[in-house]
Amino acid sequence: MTDWKTRTKLIHSGIRRSQYGEMSEAIFLTQGFAYDTAEQAEARFIQAGPDEFIYARYGNPTVRMFEERIAAIEGTEDAFATASGMAAVNGALTSLVKAGDHVVAARALFGSCLYILDLLARFGVEVTLVDGTDLDQWRAAVRPGTKCVFLESVSNPTLEVIDIRGVCEIAHVHGAIVVVDNVFATPTYSRAVELGADVVVYSTTKHIDGGGRCLGGVVCASRDYIRKVLEPYMKHTGAAMSPFNAWVMLKGMETLDLRVRAQTEAALAVAKALEGHPKVAAVSYPGLTSHPHHALAMEQMGAGGTVVTFDLAGGKDAAFRFLNALEIVTISNNLGDAKSIITHPATTTHQRLPADQKVLLGITPGLVRLSLGLEDQGDLLADLLGALDAA
Ligand SMILES: *Cc1c(COP(=O)(O)O)cnc(C)c1O
Repeated sequence: MTDWKTRTKLIHSGIRRSQYGEMSEAIFLTQGFAYDTAEQAEARFIQAGPDEFIYARYGNPTVRMFEERIAAIEGTEDAFATASGMAAVNGALTSLVKAGDHVVAARALFGSCLYILDLLARFGVEVTLVDGTDLDQWRAAVRPGTKCVFLESVSNPTLEVIDIRGVCEIAHVHGAIVVVDNVFATPTYSRAVELGADVVVYSTTKHIDGGGRCLGGVVCASRDYIRKVLEPYMKHTGAAMSPFNAWVMLKGMETLDLRVRAQTEAALAVAKALEGHPKVAAVSYPGLTSHPHHALAMEQMGAGGTVVTFDLAGGKDAAFRFLNALEIVTISNNLGDAKSIITHPATTTHQRLPADQKVLLGITPGLVRLSLGLEDQGDLLADLLGALDAA
């Protein structure tokens, strides 16, 4: 099974067939499990075997299938599925630290990830933020006593690419654990573990679901970390993935690779078409040779991913006119969906960020983030170019 290729693992890894031999993975929509005897219950509470379950807050067969499948893809020994991407980030970080510990994180983070760092600071963890793309800043910030470092491998929304290998080398000198939020890289292009990351986190709400249906998250890491550090925290704080959502994610994984590659192809075509367009001041897409981290993106992911951001020359008014003129691409804030989605970060996802932080992160009034879906590429390009005329 370990020498299966990704597309085979995406479909067959982790399957637990019941006595009925069902083809599609079963949804074990149960929170509890019955024991044959009191002795069996006692034994299971002492040490549950690999096919034994106690309570869905701890584990469930459908959730376990999803965890084993994503671990097989990510190349980690184990994984723990959570109720949302934020539950995964929170669990991964909070389970690791205590008051007095030091955490270093890249500054360009999803708003809720920044909130979690503030929460850690409230409980006596010292947090240092750095420009994640500058290895010298990591070198200056990481020190003995740094318990973990945290970064988004490709930042949202500006698509900066962080050198995972470089950061891991710096962090590991001091024994710090590297936690990578890998949503924008997607499991298809992820080489985070090979590059040295200790813990890889996904919001499965994005590409893994792929149809905008369910919230979910997952933490992938060594068995020691998952079972000894993370699981106690997760099972007692309760952010378990529901079996129904795990089933949706399992079915999503079957087509993940095909979808992500098609979305990436569309993203590259759109980025090329927009670069140099008179209404567009700048295009940021790691797959373009003009991107400052293009070479790193190619080495680290082998592709630019499914999201393109660009800056409308006319600022916020032009951006709004453009969004309102789109007919196929939908105004929303998810990404990785089969439907193409456009977002205006400055007024939505990053609205509450102070003005100076927006400047620092490059979130300008004209910036829009486009998550490519699975529509016909010609139709998408016509929609985008037509709406640019209106802008
Ligand atoms: C969406 C997202 C999250 C949060 O995931 P949810 O499933 O919405 O909780 C965390 N990190 C990144 C990079 C994301 O894009």
